[in-house]
Amino acid sequence: MRHRLAPHQYADGILRGDRLLLSRAITLAESSRPDDQALAQAVLTQVLPATGRSIRVGITGVPGVGKSTFIEAFGSYLIQQGYRLAVLAIDPTSQRSGGSLLGDKTRMETLSMNPAAYIRPSPAGDSLGGVAQHTRETMLLCEAAGFDVILIETVGVGQSETVVHGLVDFFLLLMLAGAGDELQGMKRGIMELADALAITKADGDTTASARRAQLDYTNALHLFPPTGTGWPPPVRTCSALTGDGIADLWTMILAHQQQMHQNGEFQQRRQAQQLTWFRALLRQRLDARFYSQPGMSERLAALEVQIRAGTLLPAAAVQVLLDE
Ligand code: GDP
Repeated sequence: MRHRLAPHQYADGILRGDRLLLSRAITLAESSRPDDQALAQAVLTQVLPATGRSIRVGITGVPGVGKSTFIEAFGSYLIQQGYRLAVLAIDPTSQRSGGSLLGDKTRMETLSMNPAAYIRPSPAGDSLGGVAQHTRETMLLCEAAGFDVILIETVGVGQSETVVHGLVDFFLLLMLAGAGDELQGMKRGIMELADALAITKADGDTTASARRAQLDYTNALHLFPPTGTGWPPPVRTCSALTGDGIADLWTMILAHQQQMHQNGEFQQRRQAQQLTWFRALLRQRLDARFYSQPGMSERLAALEVQIRAGTLLPAAAVQVLLDE
C-alpha cells in the first residue's frame, strides 16, 4: 500500500468526486489487513451521511446472455440522461479459477472510457461473503463520490444472485429467448428474486422468439406467489444492439422506485438489507473469534475423535466447548 492518508483526507476527496482517492479507499476496504480495515471503516463512517441516495440496480443472467453488452448500452443511455454511473461486479468464478466470467479488461470498453462512469471489478481471492461485504462498502463509497446509479452485475450461476439481491433496490434478470430454463441453468429461486425479466437480443432473426419468450415467461411468473410488494415483475424485451427497450427498462425502474417509495416498501427493503448485513457480519466475526482461540483446532480435533468413536454426543461436545 502506498502512503496512507488520514481518514478525513480520503473522505474529503471522495466527497469532491476524486476518483483516485475513491479507488484507494475501495482498495483499503477490500484489504484483509486490520490497519487497512480500520482506516476504511473510519472513512466509511465519515462519508456515511452522503450515502444511500443512489438507485441501486442488480443485473444477472447466465454467461452469454449479454450482460456486459447490455450494461454498455444501458449505462451509455443513463449517462446521456445525465446520470453518473458506477458499475460493480460480483463474480464468484474469479475466486476459484483465477479466471473470471465477468472481470476481463476488454469488457465495457465504451463505458470505461466515459468520465461519467466508474467501473470496478470484484476483488479476487475472496469468499462470497467477503465479496458481499466489500461490494456493499464499495457501493457506499461510490454513492458518497456522487454516482447516482449503481449497477451491480453478477453471473447467474450460483449463490451470488442472493447476495446481489440483498444489496439493491431493483433486481433485473436477463434471459435468452429459445433456451429452456434448464438450459439457462436458471433456478426457480432466482426468478422469484427478480423485480423484472428482460429477454435480451430482441433484434433481427431473434425478435420473434424474444416476443414468444416474453409471453412464456409472463405466463410462468403468473404461477408464482405474489411478491407482497404490489409490484408484479414485468417481462420485457430489449436489444443492446439496436437500443430497443433500453429506455423502457429505465422508465420501468423509475416507476418501481416511485411506487416503492409511496408504499413504504423502499424503506423496508433497505432496512431489512441493513439488518441482514449486520447479522451476517456479527455471525462472521463471532465465528472468526471463536475458531481463532489458541489451541482451538487441536481441541476440536480431539472432540471429533470422541464423537466419531461414539463416546461423546455432538450436543454434549458443543456444550463442553461453550462452557470452557
Ligand atoms: P455476458 O457473458 O452475459 O456478459 O454476455 P456478452 O455481453 O459478452 O454477450 C455475449 C454475446 O452476445 C456477444 O457475442 C454479444 O455480441 C452478443 N450480444 C449481446 N447483446 C446482444 C444484442 O442485443 N443483440 C445481439 N444480436 N447480440 C448481442
